[in-house]
Amino acid sequence: MNSALISKIEKAKRYAEERDRVTFVQFTARFRGDNDYHTVSFQDGRWHCTCHFFASWNICSHTMALQRILGEMLPAEAAAEPAP
Ligand SMILES: [Zn+2]
Repeated sequence: MNSALISKIEKAKRYAEERDRVTFVQFTARFRGDNDYHTVSFQDGRWHCTCHFFASWNICSHTMALQRILGEMLPAEAAAEPAP
């Protein structure tokens, strides 16, 4: 294998362990909930989900699950769960 490519693969392995290097700016995800699929999106520091709960609370189990999954890869203001 080309040595330049080998070094890039090694760098990628190291980067993958250093998640604070990555900050999501926007994305859309399809979320398989217990009862239905929902579309969760994140843009301009704000969450959105197509589920009914989110419409009333501006937060839901789907957005909170993604906060846990993505953790430090979210901007700080978008990563915190509300206090119960
Ligand atoms: Zn939801």
